[in-house]
Amino acid sequence: MHKDMDRLHELQEIDSAIGELQRELRGLDDGSGLRARLEGEREELARRRSAHYDNHTVQSKKEAELEKADEKRKALMSKAYGGTISNPKELETLEKEIASLGRTKDRLETELLALFDTVDRENQSVKEQEALVGSLERELAETVATFEGERERLNGEIAGLQQERAEVSGSVQPASLQTYERLRERAGHLAVSVIEGRVCTACRVNLPIVQIARLTQGTEFEKCESCMRLLWIASEPDTDADDSASAAD
Ligand SMILES: [Zn+2]
Repeated sequence: MHKDMDRLHELQEIDSAIGELQRELRGLDDGSGLRARLEGEREELARRRSAHYDNHTVQSKKEAELEKADEKRKALMSKAYGGTISNPKELETLEKEIASLGRTKDRLETELLALFDTVDRENQSVKEQEALVGSLERELAETVATFEGERERLNGEIAGLQQERAEVSGSVQPASLQTYERLRERAGHLAVSVIEGRVCTACRVNLPIVQIARLTQGTEFEKCESCMRLLWIASEPDTDADDSASAAD
């Protein structure tokens, strides 16, 4: 094998690990989906609060109207039946007014009854929405905290691997490194393929025995004829077969 091949294989392992961590980093949930949902639920809460406030205001207004009508009706009644009115025409006018105020009172009471239900229902629905917004806020805070922790961990691991990468690539001949980098660009980030049981693990093609012999005994790079990646083989191909070896013993 070419003398840089072990190092290039090591480099490939580091690069693959960095790629894996970067994918994981990109896949992290930063809470933006949850944040958008929370925004919508907050708007809904504001809408419900405003509707509740409006009806509550109407309710207070009607209550004040009712109180006023009631007071006026009582006053007119004591005036009408207090014995001070002797003119029948005046009494008739007063009675009409009292009856009219009585109808107003009845109408307001009916309206208020319906309004009490509405305001009560709205109050309940505001509370429910407040609870939902509160739980989403907590969930978002947790998601963001998890995201920040994971991001820090992954970035730390990536930085460590990049340090390793710098050391390994510094110990490889520039021409070998160039070959490696060019292949990586062309072959979807995988420049070195490991041979396992005579198979190129990158493209699953069976390799000719003579090529494997050339690889293990020679000093040049060997590339897979099918996928053109640099081939690497473990110096002791049977290390993975420890179990079967000890079983055979
Ligand atoms: Zn191949």
